[in-house]
Amino acid sequence: MAMRFSILGTGSSGNAALLVTENARVLVDAGFSARKLSQLLANIGESLDRVDAVFLTHEHGDHAAGVDGFKKFPHIQLFANAATSRAIQSGLTHRPNWQIFQTGSRFMFRDLLIESFSVPHDAQEPVGFRFTSGQDGDLFTPRRSLAFLTDLGYAPQNIHECIRECEVVVVESNHCSELLKNDTRRPWSLKQRISGRHGHLSNAAAHELLAAGASPRWRRIYLTHLSRDCNSRAAVETVFAAMRSALSSCEFSVVEQGESTPFYDLG
Ligand SMILES: [Zn+2]
Ligand SMILES: [Zn+2]
Repeated sequence: MAMRFSILGTGSSGNAALLVTENARVLVDAGFSARKLSQLLANIGESLDRVDAVFLTHEHGDHAAGVDGFKKFPHIQLFANAATSRAIQSGLTHRPNWQIFQTGSRFMFRDLLIESFSVPHDAQEPVGFRFTSGQDGDLFTPRRSLAFLTDLGYAPQNIHECIRECEVVVVESNHCSELLKNDTRRPWSLKQRISGRHGHLSNAAAHELLAAGASPRWRRIYLTHLSRDCNSRAAVETVFAAMRSALSSCEFSVVEQGESTPFYDLG
């Protein structure tokens, strides 16, 4: 087994995913309380006691709210860049086991190769990740890569290249531009922030990114971080319908707020 993956939750009320390799069990983001994370992990037969590390994309509460609760789990290593760790640390009552990386660097954590890259979003130093495990040509643990891309206003060119070499791409499909425009609950300034260059990808922008990076390697695409008010499964499925039938060997999974996905085994 090279890699298994489950989304525990996604959206503005919390984001977290679990990635398991032969020798590592890591969370990507921890946007739920430790108690809620424990419940979500228990649903798939896992627990925080078995989690080795957390990789944090940025400091927003929907990605990092669980960090304070990790004081009960001191064995968990927290990977973030310096600016993100500083922003999170300022709201903590304890000092977790920080492991600081530089944005753009590549490093190993056990049998997992981690590549981080900066993404445009209104946080201190937000990043996306690519995780790779296994070896080319190895029958038992073949090389598998997963890209994790939520919270970005637009996708720079290097991200197109990054997702091309992955089996799994997790990408936000945050809002339907039309629904956001017609929303009456959000003030104009907030709508500008969401749809701006440092906000979130619309369904159309997520589609554009995937169309530009489309690859025969893809086996599964997760469309995540859907806005509850300004998006819907139906709106996302409409935008991706043609791509879905064109890329018939790849599965598309739309994950709404409040949903988790069962383990997906990348082989
Ligand atoms: Zn977010
Ligand atoms: Zn954010």
